[in-house]
Amino acid sequence: MANPKKRVPENAPGDFFVDSTCINCDTCRQIAPQVFCEAESTSFVKAQPSAADRRVALRALLSCPTGSIGDLGDDDVKAVMLDFPLAVEEPVYYCGYNSPKSYGGNSYFVRHPDGNWLIDSPKFIAPLVKRLEELGGVAHVFLTHRDDVADADRFADHFHARRIIHRKELTSQPNAEVVLDGDGPWELAPGFLAISTPGHTQGHCVLLFRDRFLFAGDHLDWDRDERHLAAMERYCWHSWPEQVESVSRLADYRFEWVLPGHSQTVHLPEAEMRDQIRRLTKKMRAS
Ligand code: SF4
Repeated sequence: MANPKKRVPENAPGDFFVDSTCINCDTCRQIAPQVFCEAESTSFVKAQPSAADRRVALRALLSCPTGSIGDLGDDDVKAVMLDFPLAVEEPVYYCGYNSPKSYGGNSYFVRHPDGNWLIDSPKFIAPLVKRLEELGGVAHVFLTHRDDVADADRFADHFHARRIIHRKELTSQPNAEVVLDGDGPWELAPGFLAISTPGHTQGHCVLLFRDRFLFAGDHLDWDRDERHLAAMERYCWHSWPEQVESVSRLADYRFEWVLPGHSQTVHLPEAEMRDQIRRLTKKMRAS
């Protein structure tokens, strides 16, 4: 729980505040950019939420991995817990409850008649688990790479789900039920294609759903200010040249949505998304 005595000085006066335990993961700024802003190495409340914005500010509070956001008002936080998972576009949802184990990484949920999917892992926390039970549970847990597994083992145990991960990431989930070998791609189920994208880590994979949604893990992100797809060399742990080539190969696929592990979800027309991939590849090759 956030401590009002540790409020960072940049906060605008009022009920909502960020305290000094913030790890600057960006989650609150993705969810409620009208309320939260970045200072050097922390988020802060740039403007207290209007009555209409209090609910999104509370969603950010609930999704903060480190409990660094406080609210001194009398808002009904329990009611907002029911918002998660939050629809992106049916049948795809953002889970919320980002985990500190994945440095506040985003995770996603897909409802499917043959069994629901979790992509990377949020916190294993009772209100979310209950909502996922109500939505039919989880049959598959797709893990893009070792950094974002968080509580995947607990979700797999609870829902008797199968975890899917590349062999080169297996040290993070040694008991995973499905292990991907080689270079793929792998059709995991009709409409679900795993694509090998080494670079950020050696066995990193992304998941393409229905040629529309690309669950990108830490392979890609969206630069909110410049409004373009990006990849971060300073967060590339394995091989930048391999990451460049992995990004370039994504131009062979069709998708309109990029749902990253960190940063903003983005939706663009398919042709524009392909242009974004080509422009990013060119920029990465020149770097
Ligand atoms: S979600 Fe929490 S940890 Fe992440 S930037 Fe916001 S206040 Fe900081």
